[in-house]
Amino acid sequence: MEKLTLESRPTGVPEGTAGADLLAVDLDRLRALADSAWATPERVQHVLGRLGSGGGRGGRGGRLALDDFAVLLSDAAGSRLEDMAAAANRLTVQRFGRTIHLFAPLYLSNECVSTCTYCGFSAEHQIARRTLSVDEVVAEGRALAERGFRHVLLVSGEHARIVSKDYLVACVEALAPLFPSISVEVQVWDTDTYRRLVAAGCDGLVVYQETYARSAYEAVHLKGKKRNYDWRLGAPDRGAEAGMRRLGVGALLGLHDDWRFEALAVAAHAGALMRRHWRSEVTVSLPRMRPAAGVSVPVAPGGDVDDRSFVQLVCAMRLFLPDVGLVLSTREAPELRDALVRLGVTHMSAGSHTEPGGYAAPSDAEPQFSIADTRSPAELAAVLRAAGYDPVWKDWQRT
Ligand code: SF4
Repeated sequence: MEKLTLESRPTGVPEGTAGADLLAVDLDRLRALADSAWATPERVQHVLGRLGSGGGRGGRGGRLALDDFAVLLSDAAGSRLEDMAAAANRLTVQRFGRTIHLFAPLYLSNECVSTCTYCGFSAEHQIARRTLSVDEVVAEGRALAERGFRHVLLVSGEHARIVSKDYLVACVEALAPLFPSISVEVQVWDTDTYRRLVAAGCDGLVVYQETYARSAYEAVHLKGKKRNYDWRLGAPDRGAEAGMRRLGVGALLGLHDDWRFEALAVAAHAGALMRRHWRSEVTVSLPRMRPAAGVSVPVAPGGDVDDRSFVQLVCAMRLFLPDVGLVLSTREAPELRDALVRLGVTHMSAGSHTEPGGYAAPSDAEPQFSIADTRSPAELAAVLRAAGYDPVWKDWQRT
């Protein structure tokens, strides 16, 4: 009988990586700044003034520091939201033009051996489970390609046997003729596995840390490999080392009771990734919790982020990181999505299904969460055009 070897993962985050850079940042000090008497209206004015008419790099004041970002998250900055929005709009148009990159998630499997308190796929939930065959994955891909998509994000639960390395490589290889750009948002892997995925045609890696607060992380990740905070934090570095051209990071707002802390951590992590891996394009996503099957108390007490705070967060992120891609999913309602297009968002999903087979062969397989914007890709593209923005379906061609 073949010997079964259990994989053990190193603990700690390697030196010389963006993950280690983040751990060296005193996030608690920065977080305290945002609430302190130091964050005055005068200091907000000073930070906004430093952006200048050119904004950020190339403007009068140069890049903002994390201390400045903390100021932009303060209540004092909240009362200058219109000015922040105007500066964020100016910077976004300057860096990205009036364009929105469109992509679609393609769920491969809702099998999962982990227990995460906030997720509809969590192992203990008695839900209809489904894993697509490679042929079914291609059928999903064709359905998405027919809707115009040229960038697809492969998503799955964490089940290393059913959603194995070989399976993922086979899915990427099968989809490569249909999609110039393929990203994965699956369980985190080692560098060699990421190399295999890159060789198969994958160019993007998305790894949300979910919450950067270790105590909150341990409280919501009860069982499974995802409990290893450090191994997850190091994944974007491993992906970059393997040649991933797009790196996506983010936090699931609502898991922790302090969205400002999460914002500081995501911003510091994204900034470190941009410095360490300048060849890769870095994107940030800040999804808010949505209802999911079997999840009774999804949001941590005090963790709710209201719409106004969310807008402030998006604007602040754009002002601090002018060149980062900001991703907005269909978790958010249409009116808010349309408004955020002008304030810094650069990447949007559309017409999403969060259950395996949802595009070409719907079944009773449980979705991961419910979506709020149900407009079709064509409807969203029409809305974008009417607002003066170009929907971009393809921005990369693998050679
Ligand atoms: S968050 Fe990921 S690992 Fe956790 S239960 Fe959901 S699919 Fe599984």
